[in-house]
Order: sequence, then C-alpha cells, then structure tokens
Amino acid sequence: MDFNPCYKHQLVRKTVREFAEIEIKPHVAELDKEGRFPGEIAEKMRPLNYFGLQVPKSLGGAGLDTISYAIAIEELSRVSASLGLCVTVHNSVGIYPILAFGTREQIERFVPDMASGRHIGAFCLTEANAGSDAGGVETTARKTENGYMINGTKIFVTNGGICDIVLVFAVDEGEKGPANVFVVEKTRPGFSVGEIEDLCGMRANPVSSLFFEECEIPEENRLGKPGQGLKIGLTALDTGRIGIAAQALGIAQAAFEDALSYAKERQQFNSPISRFQTIQNYLADMATSIDASRLLLYRAAAAKDSGKPFSAESSMAKLHCAATARTVTDLAVQIHGGYGYSKEYDVERYFRDAKVTQIYEGTSEIQKMVIARHLLTQPS
Ligand SMILES: Cc1cc2nc3c(=O)[nH]c(=O)nc-3n(C[C@H](O)[C@H](O)[C@H](O)COP(=O)(O)OP(=O)(O)OC[C@H]3O[C@@H](n4cnc5c(N)ncnc54)[C@H](O)[C@@H]3O)c2cc1C
Repeated sequence: MDFNPCYKHQLVRKTVREFAEIEIKPHVAELDKEGRFPGEIAEKMRPLNYFGLQVPKSLGGAGLDTISYAIAIEELSRVSASLGLCVTVHNSVGIYPILAFGTREQIERFVPDMASGRHIGAFCLTEANAGSDAGGVETTARKTENGYMINGTKIFVTNGGICDIVLVFAVDEGEKGPANVFVVEKTRPGFSVGEIEDLCGMRANPVSSLFFEECEIPEENRLGKPGQGLKIGLTALDTGRIGIAAQALGIAQAAFEDALSYAKERQQFNSPISRFQTIQNYLADMATSIDASRLLLYRAAAAKDSGKPFSAESSMAKLHCAATARTVTDLAVQIHGGYGYSKEYDVERYFRDAKVTQIYEGTSEIQKMVIARHLLTQPS
C-alpha cells in the first residue's frame, strides 16, 4: 500500500533507503558484533543533512516536515536501528528543545553546529533512582554567582560516548522534580563520560553514563524560564516518541521483508513454507500490524506539522509501533526456524533491537498512562 502519495515524501524515502542500503547495510552485522559506532558513516551523513533533519534551512538544516522526518528515521532504522537511534535522539530530544525553548542567542550558538553533525546531541534525564518517574531526579544545580554548579550522574545516555552537547535535567538544591534543563558542552570542566554499556541490542550506539562533578555552567546555558524543566522534558518526549515509533516501524518492516522472502524460498515437505496456512497467517498478521502502525505514526506526525496537539497521538504511535516491532520480529525469527536464532541471518538482530523500543522514551506502561490521562481529561 502506498502511504506517501506526496512526491516530497516519496523522494525522502527513496533517498534515505538508497543511502542506507549502499553505505550502511554492508557493515551492520560487523558493527553490531563489535559494538562499535561507525564514525566513518556518520561523516558521510553530515553533508547530507541527517543531523539537522527538521532544523530550518536558515540554520543549516534540511527544514523537513515531521512526516518526512519519520520516514527518514524509519528508513535508516530499517537497515540500522542503532544509527536510527543516534539520529532520532540527536534531532528530536537533542535539538528540538533548543529550537522550541531556546533564546535566539542559544539557538544561534548551539543549533548550526548540531545541524551540521559537527556536534552530536544527547538527552540526560534518567538516573539510578529516576527512570519512569522523572520526579526522582537527584542531579542538582546549585546557583552560583555566574550560573549553576551541576552535580550528579546520568545513566543510559544514548549517544553518550560521542556526544558534544547534552541537555541535563537537574533539581534546585533542596527541591524536588527537575526544575531546570541545562545545555552543557562536553568541554566544561567536571563533565566526564563513563564506559560504553554492553547492551542486548542497539549495540552500535554508544550508550553510556555521564558524570557531572562540580561542573559549572553559565546562566545563559539554562534552557527556558526558571522552573520550566519538566515542561521542556515532556514536550521533548512527545516529539521524541514520534522518532522512536518510526524506529520501531523500520525494524518491523525489515523483519517482515526478510521473513516474506525466506518463507518463499525455504522448502519443507516438498513445498515452500509460504504455502502453509499457518505461515500465511503469520505474514498477514505482520503486514496488518505494520500498516496500522504506519497510519498511527503518520497521523501523529501530521498533527505536529499542522500545529495541533499530538501528545496522545505520539504515545499511541509509539505504543503500537513498539508492540508491532516486538511481535513482528518474534514471528520473523519463528518463520526462519533455527536459522532465525543464528547470527547468519539479520532477524536475530532485529529481535534484539526491537525490545528496547518498548522501554526508552517512556515504557509502554507509561505510554498507556499518558493516553489514559488524555482520555480522562477530555471534555465529554
Ligand atoms: C538503550 C537505552 C537507551 C536509553 N537512552 C536514554 C537517553 O538517551 N536519555 C535518558 O534520559 N534515558 C535513556 N534511557 C533510559 C530509559 O528511558 C529508561 O530505562 C526508561 O524510562 C525506564 O526507566 P527504568 O529503566 O528506570 O525503569 P523503571 O521506571 O524502574 O520501570 C520498571 C518497570 O516498572 C514499570 N513502571 C514504572 N512505573 C510505573 C507506573 N507508574 N505504572 C505502571 N508501571 C510502571 C515500567 O513500565 C517498567 O516495566 C535509555 C535506556 C536504554 C535501555
């Protein structure tokens, strides 16, 4: 089914797909095995505007709409979920809050270098005692004469090992909840990066802890008004979830395509396994879930593009796309039988990569809370 009647969107899909197939695909299995971020591929992506997908052209970005953005993340993740993760986190929860809440001076200071990919962004909310509950943030920002002194440890930071600019959520000393967000450059004294995590999936993304020890930053690095931290975080995550939904969809699409071609090739009982009704049912279920996911995703993206509220829509898209990625990759392994459990085939990687889409940027349980809150606060 053609979901992109618009020529602009078809062109984005074609361009990103070609790049991903030619430049990324030959290296994906090796990068996953080595747990290595491909800096050399990121270098090739820089002049093509992957790091400034929705940044206005006047600031050096591609100026794409959100549907185009979702398509780009979907296509990148169809080949490499780890690179898709790098690009979506950088663009959505890295750059977007600066564009949405930054002063003109902050936007001009930080965004052009991020849009060009010279500086990679990261988003630092999670801590040992603050996962789903952002109110548990313990990193402090103590007021000083010239700015703030940040102390604390952030964990599971996507792009942690390659980041240059990070958004740090911190509480005022003695208060509760992330009162403020700070844009912190990695060159600031007191900022350091931990070991790269040894993860089940997304192994080519350098996820790590980040440490802030008496890390002093100037007043002009605080994003938004004092006390706006939670609002900035929630707004960033509404946008971020569109990217994670697109990533999950890309993984599901890849798994489906591999399963479909394997089912047509694999012979058992003197017949391709695609002739068996059970396998056909699996394929039909996979295709239907993927189509439904795509519709939810593009609806959320279209709502954002038209300036309408999209919080519940992006949560629904993320919830459904992530569930689809899980079930579709599971069925893809099943259709491949024992070979699906071997690293000889890509489906085992899709299976590992898919799981975390139900966890980060709000677990599936948290998405249901967001959706339910929306339903219960709507006027009847
Ligand atoms: C690969 C990876 C990359 C990540 N990247 C980032 C990043 O870039 N920046 C960042 O800040 N964080 C990042 N995270 C962290 C991620 O966002 C958190 O892991 C996630 O929000 C869940 O928090 P938690 O792990 O502490 O789980 P917990 O909050 O402890 O949850 C444990 C379980 O309890 C459930 N639960 C919790 N509260 C409720 C409730 N009220 N009702 C029902 N169920 C509930 C959860 O859904 C989950 O099933 C990343 C994580 C991973 C694995």
